[in-house]
Amino acid sequence: MADLEAGVLAIGAGPANLALAAAIEECGSTELAERTLLLEQAPDIKWQRDLLMPWARSQVSFLKDLVTLRDPRSRFSFLNFLHQHGRLDQFINLGTFHPHRWEFSDYLQWVAASLEKVRIRYDARATATEPLYDAGGRLTGWQVTLADGDTIRCRDLVIGAGRDANVPAVFAGLSAEKVIHSARFRSRIAAVDKEAPLRAVVVGGAQSAAEMFMAVYENLPNSSVTMLVRSIGLQNYQTSKFVNELFYPSFVDEFFDAPAEMRAQVLDEMRLTNYAGLAPPFLDELYLMLYREKMIGTGRAEVQAMTEVVAAREEDGEVVLDLRDRRTGKVTEHRCDLVLLGTGYDSRMPALVRELTEKAGLPEVTVSRNYRVELGETAGGALYLQGVNEATHGIADSLISVLAHRARDICGELLDRHTALADRGSR
Ligand SMILES: Cc1cc2nc3c(=O)[nH]c(=O)nc-3n(C[C@H](O)[C@H](O)[C@H](O)COP(=O)(O)OP(=O)(O)OC[C@H]3O[C@@H](n4cnc5c(N)ncnc54)[C@H](O)[C@@H]3O)c2cc1C
Repeated sequence: MADLEAGVLAIGAGPANLALAAAIEECGSTELAERTLLLEQAPDIKWQRDLLMPWARSQVSFLKDLVTLRDPRSRFSFLNFLHQHGRLDQFINLGTFHPHRWEFSDYLQWVAASLEKVRIRYDARATATEPLYDAGGRLTGWQVTLADGDTIRCRDLVIGAGRDANVPAVFAGLSAEKVIHSARFRSRIAAVDKEAPLRAVVVGGAQSAAEMFMAVYENLPNSSVTMLVRSIGLQNYQTSKFVNELFYPSFVDEFFDAPAEMRAQVLDEMRLTNYAGLAPPFLDELYLMLYREKMIGTGRAEVQAMTEVVAAREEDGEVVLDLRDRRTGKVTEHRCDLVLLGTGYDSRMPALVRELTEKAGLPEVTVSRNYRVELGETAGGALYLQGVNEATHGIADSLISVLAHRARDICGELLDRHTALADRGSR
């Protein structure tokens, strides 16, 4: 087991920390870049790997890639990726701003492989994090322990490890093999016998739920699948160009400066721009599929709206769901073999962050405009959080829309901190 050191350590090599890596690589300080290390738990980079179906599309323009809004001349742009792979012509001919997710995922892997100074360690799952203190009790940095037992110390830590899955309490009593959250869909469904006559239920009415519904229908030809939706029916994302202006990186300043109750109201009003809805072309595709299924199919797929799961249990190897019809209040039993949860992500800080900030003695997590956790004036080490600051930085915080600018903001602070430390050292 090795005891290692880095200047900046970033947990996760998803879009957020890759955007930061690109910004650091291009910031002009070779030393800062060479002292930056990303940790990725997987053996490679994939964007939302467990919902990476071949037909799934990005909902955000490719121009909002990891770098273009920060620096359109950056070599890490999506357009340069296409150019380097000799497919710029073909992509342009598609006439779309919304690439397939696999193509954006390949782009992320290409960015990672194109880094020359910032390093990435793969198969490196961070399992524990600790604050480090000097003899006077001043916080000086952090220690991260990996699954293989290695430890890495750093002064500045960035957590960009995504959010925790939300599993509603009603499903807590079901055994693990009967329930699959969308965050584990492809890995888990790969183990299911394709020919088995499975009765699957998808819970949820947003994009992830709909994608699992379509994937089960298409890939398990002898299965039936029922989608349970609590709302009045599947809905399109709100795609108004006027409202979309609130996804501009410049809106982060306005949002951050607004009073907390105003921010909560705006988030609530923007809910249908990102959550609880489907991309309009996909919603139409789904509706056509259900029409065909009803007219000439075998009744393998159906959507039940205004339906709430009020209890779940197992009986003789089957899952029994109690479903309440919101129109009548009547509760009926629905028997199935597998429950697929498209129930989204926990809106709280991820467990990894909560555990670390508790250890650092923080009763609550307060994050500055530049995404740095407030640790008190004397702290020497800094902690930055990516993708979990929706409440203070706006609904785009978990999306790729603001990544390039956020990377610039965090990188700017890291560079200042690095330069100040180097100056102190040379005095
Ligand atoms: C199905 C789906 C589709 C989406 N589509 C879009 C879209 O079209 N447009 C958009 O803007 N947003 C979309 N999003 C939102 C998504 O959150 C962002 O696009 C983006 O993935 C966020 O990047 P991230 O780096 O913050 O987190 P993630 O993409 O979740 O990446 C986190 C990385 O950290 C790694 N990791 C986690 N824990 C550890 C650990 N303990 N140790 C080491 N590594 C770890 C993970 O393996 C992963 O590689 C989608 C989300 C989902 C679920």
